[in-house]
Amino acid sequence: MLIIGLTGGIGSGKSTVARHFETLGVPVIDADDIGRQLVEPGQPTLATIIKHFGSNMLDDKGRLNRARLREQVFRHPKQRRDLEAILHPRIRAEIQRRIANLSPVCGYCLISVPLLIESGWQDLVQRVLVVDAPRETQIRRTTARDGITRRQAEAIITSQVERDTRLQAADDVIHNDGDLAALQAQVEALHQRYRQLAERQR
Ligand code: ADP
Repeated sequence: MLIIGLTGGIGSGKSTVARHFETLGVPVIDADDIGRQLVEPGQPTLATIIKHFGSNMLDDKGRLNRARLREQVFRHPKQRRDLEAILHPRIRAEIQRRIANLSPVCGYCLISVPLLIESGWQDLVQRVLVVDAPRETQIRRTTARDGITRRQAEAIITSQVERDTRLQAADDVIHNDGDLAALQAQVEALHQRYRQLAERQR
């Protein structure tokens, strides 16, 4: 099975790209979705997080207050590393479990990992696909989508790996600085290419 790692900075258009591959019938394993599922009420990972960060990270319904936790670890790098030490191995193990369960008829699959390069998880994939957009475009899309301020968007972008470093790690690049039709055309061209590569791998 050919495994493609999909990554890109916040607001680059990763989720939009992933959805388009899905409509073409490509299985997508999403690391963010896995991260969210791991901290659902009743999950052992949630208990581990609460043990470490305290029960004030729960809302009144017993769900993880993700915004509060995010804010806390954003301000304290050591705590950020602690949270990553809890979450990353579990997310990685779940990605591997899902890869093992994929049907071989799919030909190829995508793993969407926003922090693929930052986490050094390239070993999970055979090719790295980067969705790239200019910084100003990232800021515009993120502030519109998430209702955050320009400063908050800039802080997130600065916390991620630099655009050039990400591009250097790429085997394939989608340039998402045009309209949605231009984005879809690039996805469809890559889909053909990946199908051919997967066929050759058989
Ligand atoms: P990411 O997952 O990389 O953070 P998204 O795919 O969620 O980014 O895109 C961020 C926002 O920008 C979304 O609201 C999305 O609909 C919009 N968007 C992405 N690409 C384009 C584009 N080419 N044209 C217009 N809007 C776009």
